[in-house]
Amino acid sequence: MTLPAPAHPVVPVTLDLRDFQRVPRSTDECVALWDRLEPAVVTVDPLAGPRVRIDLGDEGEVGIWFLDPATAPRPLGAGTRFAIRGVLEPPEVRHACTSCRAAGTTTYAPYRCAGCDEDRRTGRVCEAHAVFLDGGLRASCPHHVPECRCGTKAAAWCSGVRCRGRRAWCRTHLRGHPADATVSYCADCYDERFPVCERDGCRGTGYIRCEHRTLSAMKACGRRVCVEHAQRWQVYGPYSRGVALCSLHHQELRSTPPEGLIDIVLAGTVARAKGHRGQSASRRRVQLPRISIVRHILINTRRTVLDMEAIDRLFTGLEQRLRDRTPRDATVSAALELLAGHRPSRQEDIKRFREQHIEGRGHFDRLVQELRLTGRHQLADAVEFSDFRPRSRILFVKVPQQLQGSFIGTGGATIKRLRQRVGVEIKLERG
Ligand SMILES: [Zn+2]
Ligand SMILES: [Zn+2]
Ligand SMILES: [Zn+2]
Ligand SMILES: [Zn+2]
Ligand SMILES: [Zn+2]
Ligand SMILES: [Zn+2]
Ligand SMILES: [Zn+2]
Repeated sequence: MTLPAPAHPVVPVTLDLRDFQRVPRSTDECVALWDRLEPAVVTVDPLAGPRVRIDLGDEGEVGIWFLDPATAPRPLGAGTRFAIRGVLEPPEVRHACTSCRAAGTTTYAPYRCAGCDEDRRTGRVCEAHAVFLDGGLRASCPHHVPECRCGTKAAAWCSGVRCRGRRAWCRTHLRGHPADATVSYCADCYDERFPVCERDGCRGTGYIRCEHRTLSAMKACGRRVCVEHAQRWQVYGPYSRGVALCSLHHQELRSTPPEGLIDIVLAGTVARAKGHRGQSASRRRVQLPRISIVRHILINTRRTVLDMEAIDRLFTGLEQRLRDRTPRDATVSAALELLAGHRPSRQEDIKRFREQHIEGRGHFDRLVQELRLTGRHQLADAVEFSDFRPRSRILFVKVPQQLQGSFIGTGGATIKRLRQRVGVEIKLERG
């Protein structure tokens, strides 16, 4: 007994959509796709080959697999009923490009575009669509290229300290690094990186900030100066980095009273000690200059010659005024701490100065005597004792500017002879 063949046999097929760009997402889309395929499908002979491919141009190809070619009516026709038994889809691309998806294709997208985020789907962008701006590694799709503040599409990320590669700017609002073509900055960051020297017409970069501050105004002046124009006030001796000053504040020193100069030194030292906080070893090294150095600072800066006792009184007076100040802020506390630590060295310097003074006076008297013996009475009247350093055996004297030439003599002959006669090195106090 044979079963009669059904009047309208169903032709079972599988669709191979692995090379097709627009994978149907719903039944309607599936039916619509089949409607496009059917006119081509009915023209093929399933027995000639169980798998055929139908070209859909830019959208790719769809494969039709006849699952049971032998039972299919021959030829297929408009009345043939098909049943789609299965669909082969391209493997799901987990990171698919959002731009490609909008154009109906699915492409692996290694980069993120935050602008493309939708709900819980992370925005992605493929190699082809990714846009990278100079100065950063962040990608975006062509629609989400960051904008400059002016509204124009940005050209590069700013690498400066304010933007730190997080803000992008257009060509008009960027300035290139003078030596590195791959780096650019916004105007603010450029000025921060390459500040202009405060001197008129100087084209140097003001890498140095003026460190002028006082105990009552601890914020430093901050004016930017280039290396060439920066003045170092060598208050910590010749071998330690002095206080950097702008031209204005350097000029002002000359007319600042000794109390004011000591205030500036103390404020600068407080700031240095603060900068070293946390590094206890180096913090201990931040100290006020000894009064033997301060004495020379006062001579060199404003030609004021004070003895050690007078300089000590400047410090103790300042200490007293600070102690009376209430409330006591962190600056005052730090200053008082420095002053207390300074006290023993002041006593040492006073004691040594007195001893040296006695020895130095002896050398000085012989110097004056020698000047008189050689008939240089004007010099003998004008020369002043300043200091004597017993270890290096240097006698410092003050000679008025207009007499210094005759004190030194042609090619240094006179001062050389005086050294021989007195038996110590003789130096003119600078200033
Ligand atoms: Zn793409
Ligand atoms: Zn995007
Ligand atoms: Zn910037
Ligand atoms: Zn900026
Ligand atoms: Zn702009
Ligand atoms: Zn300069
Ligand atoms: Zn300044």
